Amino acid sequence: MDEKLRPETVAITAGRPTPTADGSLNPSISLNSTFHAGGPVGYGRFGNETWSALEEAISALEGGKTLTFASGMAAISAVFSLLPTGSVITASHQGYSGTMSLLNSLQESGRIEVRFVDLSNSQEVLSALPGTSLLWLESPTNPCLDIADLPLLISQAKAQGCGVAVDNTFATPLVQQPLTFGADMVMHSVTKYLAGHSDVIMGSISTNDDPLFSRLSTARKQNGAIPGPFEAWLALRGIRTFPLRFDRAQSNAMELARRLSIHPNVTKVYFPGLENDPHHERAQTFMKGFGAVVSFTVRGGADEADRVCGASRLITQATSLGGVESLWERRRRWALESSSVPESLIRLSVGCENVEDIWADIESSLQHG
Ligand SMILES: *Cc1c(COP(=O)(O)O)cnc(C)c1O
Repeated sequence: MDEKLRPETVAITAGRPTPTADGSLNPSISLNSTFHAGGPVGYGRFGNETWSALEEAISALEGGKTLTFASGMAAISAVFSLLPTGSVITASHQGYSGTMSLLNSLQESGRIEVRFVDLSNSQEVLSALPGTSLLWLESPTNPCLDIADLPLLISQAKAQGCGVAVDNTFATPLVQQPLTFGADMVMHSVTKYLAGHSDVIMGSISTNDDPLFSRLSTARKQNGAIPGPFEAWLALRGIRTFPLRFDRAQSNAMELARRLSIHPNVTKVYFPGLENDPHHERAQTFMKGFGAVVSFTVRGGADEADRVCGASRLITQATSLGGVESLWERRRRWALESSSVPESLIRLSVGCENVEDIWADIESSLQHG
């Protein structure tokens, strides 16, 4: 029956214990480091019922079979750890700063060769594929919201025998399901929209490939970057309302992007939902939404962007995204952020508040100076 249910329903029904009289509606928080001998799990680093419930729910939304990790970065590290020394990864030259810094370290230590490309330029990506073991895709990219042509790049890479993984954190399974385009793996920073309340750090990988699943499962056991049972429980609780939250955040983002794009103190808005955005047309061909992160640059450079972020009273000046509350920050305040990101770029993670309240705060912050 689950197969026919729509994602809004699946988010609510998946990962529940089998119904029994007086049995629990929700999975319990399995606070056990070990289990009685004789079963398939055995030890708390290998699995527990709380992870299983969460993994079932993410699988129901994203497809494939899922493993959860201590963080999004732990999930990414597990994927990269499978590659033999000297392998080539092709990845975005402007993506999530943590991924970029890990790739740079792997390259500097001589473990991996990285080809950094502009993911929105399909020709450039395709030219880098010969000799590539893993194409690491992120779309929309963080923080400039570039869109990669996922169906094209994934099918071309697979046709050449290249492994493909997609960081689907920004889009979420409600907007795109990369496994249905043929990707080998889809990764989430569960920390963001799936958990959704800025109170959990966690990551996941989903795959349809059983041998790959078992290699990743071994990597998780060996590296030990496992989620805590309480965090897993919180993340599953968050998933129950994820479609509701994401719907509201997306419609708020669309409206705020429109208003920002005609504000005199804003020089450029990055949001694939805007009709004049260079990525709009492509986004519309395969995405079911445009996400809820809006980036923009302001007149007056870095100092003015810092002033704007500090002037808000509703929006919190903080990093991260995907929670119910709106957050913003000037991305280049982080040394790790790519130098191709403009100094005055503010990344706004649009939350679920009333859109007029968010807009009033943005407007007064922009005009303060
Ligand atoms: C936050 C983030 C990550 C890293 O996830 P953590 O849970 O912070 O380790 C990876 N990719 C993207 C796109 C992110 O936004």
